[in-house]
Amino acid sequence: MNIVIMGPPGVGKGTQSHVIEATKGVVHISTGDILRMAIRSGSELGLKVHEVMNAGDLVSDDLIMEVIRERLSQDDLENGWLLDGFPRTAGQASAFITMLDGIGQSIDTVLVVRAPADEIIRRLNGRITCRACNEVMNLVGFGSSRPKFCPFCGSAEDAKRGKPALYQRADDTEETIRHRLEVFRKKTLPAAWLLEERYPLFEIDGLGIPEEVAGRIAEVLK
Ligand code: AMP
Repeated sequence: MNIVIMGPPGVGKGTQSHVIEATKGVVHISTGDILRMAIRSGSELGLKVHEVMNAGDLVSDDLIMEVIRERLSQDDLENGWLLDGFPRTAGQASAFITMLDGIGQSIDTVLVVRAPADEIIRRLNGRITCRACNEVMNLVGFGSSRPKFCPFCGSAEDAKRGKPALYQRADDTEETIRHRLEVFRKKTLPAAWLLEERYPLFEIDGLGIPEEVAGRIAEVLK
């Protein structure tokens, strides 16, 4: 099963991807995670994308297509893949359709998760991420104290870098979030409508607790 999950930043794509990965046995591929890992490792790719990412802008289509081509050529994908954060522009979507046609693959389901902008800003303002396991969580859930340990993997510190495991992403500030939402509306929605011309696409209401959203997605993936 090959799935694409799209939606504005903070709508819960990462959280829902983990559920889909666990229930469907597909491999979760997040281009954002791949790029953040590249930045952390100090690789050539990381150096190229660092500034663009922190500003909430999109990395060039050519670079991302290279990342995707490389990742999809690995041999751990026999049960299918779940792409999260790709494609993000009409250019990426049409290049991807051509690439899939070329290798005889298809997309079984495109999920577009939606939520209003003010809800997204509220969620992302308090979002923290774990450097060790990449899980995301919201400060709202921790009351007035800031957690010292990641509740998912238990790390207090990122062993490789000696930095606290939990941090706020540089692109999760209010100004950058508003910019990323604009980028989503202008550049990524057209990519979704291009995919819709070729593959089954479902819009999912992203409001409510994660379990409710997971239920709506499960209905569609049945
Ligand atoms: P995400 O973790 O999906 O929110 O992605 C974080 C950032 O990584 C984005 O704001 C972009 O700067 C970059 N990025 C991730 N995926 C893509 C993509 N498909 N095309 C361009 N830039 C991307």
